[in-house]
Amino acid sequence: MLLREQRELVVEYGKKLVTTGLTDGTFGNLSVFHRESGLMAISPSGMDYFATTPADVVVTDLEGNIVEGDRKPSSELDLHRLFYQRRPDVNGVVHTHSTFATVLACLGWSIEPVHYLVAYAGRQVPCIPYYPFGSLELAEAAWEGMKTDYNACLLGNHGLLSVGGSLSFAFDAAQQLEFLAKVYYHTRLAGGGVQLTPEQLDAVLGKFQSYRQA
Ligand SMILES: [Zn+2]
Repeated sequence: MLLREQRELVVEYGKKLVTTGLTDGTFGNLSVFHRESGLMAISPSGMDYFATTPADVVVTDLEGNIVEGDRKPSSELDLHRLFYQRRPDVNGVVHTHSTFATVLACLGWSIEPVHYLVAYAGRQVPCIPYYPFGSLELAEAAWEGMKTDYNACLLGNHGLLSVGGSLSFAFDAAQQLEFLAKVYYHTRLAGGGVQLTPEQLDAVLGKFQSYRQA
């Protein structure tokens, strides 16, 4: 079996998406990239996370061709592969419809830096316009919104996308940014919230750099 270790990670973190409340049912998707072979392991389309086994995880190349697996890969395949193609620092991608991130995505609000955990994404969490799910347009728009400046964005009228050097980082980012989305929503309703200064952000981004490498 190709990419057994990566497939096991996809199964493990898929269950964590449900147990941590980041997704319901079969929504969301995740993948791990194996840079040496140029192949990725991605969750199957529309399959219960607790029924998914490593054999159900699909292995594709970065053009989106299935290399091994009987299942249909996630409909958001393009959203994953573009980041692996274009960013040498990205080896894990997570996409969720977690509640508060999705509320903000439906309001079209980017998340301003009212809490230091914004550093999981960068200086803010940008919100991109709506594009149909599963489309190459959506993947390209997410890339345009993030490029190498951000590790996450809100997909307009849809949900959250996060990327990282590992699946573990991308998952942590999805979880912490859901908390941030909830905090930001409430601070805005309460009249605003105090934004971190550029200097304060620089300091926390520097700390994150060393924390991530540790
Ligand atoms: Zn989605």
